[in-house]
Amino acid sequence: MHCPFCKAQDTKVIDSRLVAEGEQVRRRRECNLCGERFTTYESAELVMPRIVKQNGNRETFDERKLRAGLQRALEKRPVSVEEVEAAVARIKQALRASGERELPSRRVGEAVMNELRELDQVAYVRFASVYRSFQDLSEFRSEIDRLESKKSSDNDPS
Ligand SMILES: [Zn+2]
Repeated sequence: MHCPFCKAQDTKVIDSRLVAEGEQVRRRRECNLCGERFTTYESAELVMPRIVKQNGNRETFDERKLRAGLQRALEKRPVSVEEVEAAVARIKQALRASGERELPSRRVGEAVMNELRELDQVAYVRFASVYRSFQDLSEFRSEIDRLESKKSSDNDPS
């Protein structure tokens, strides 16, 4: 691994640990020449199913797009980068576990909603409001109703 600062070839690993539920290895490295430290992430590359969009177009699964979608929904919310990475890893795992070579994009949206529902209710509603406005508005309404009634019953002292 070349040093990103001085391009020296001689760097050493000073710490190594599993992250994202064991799906990734995080390594702290130090350059033997300039002494700068940097971090690398390593994960096994497994074949993801192709994504079939609503218009029938096929596209390669794009992890950066998935992460960007999660981050957009989670903007200014108290959720750590580690939690987002763990969610990305679980979503990928769920999509791979389908065993299908192609999956409708809807399945990705549903997997994202499942994760956001657990991570942060505000982010979940943000994502769902954008996502479901094209899918099923009435279903979204009932989800909002469910959240609101849950909130009011949480505040109920009885
Ligand atoms: Zn260096």
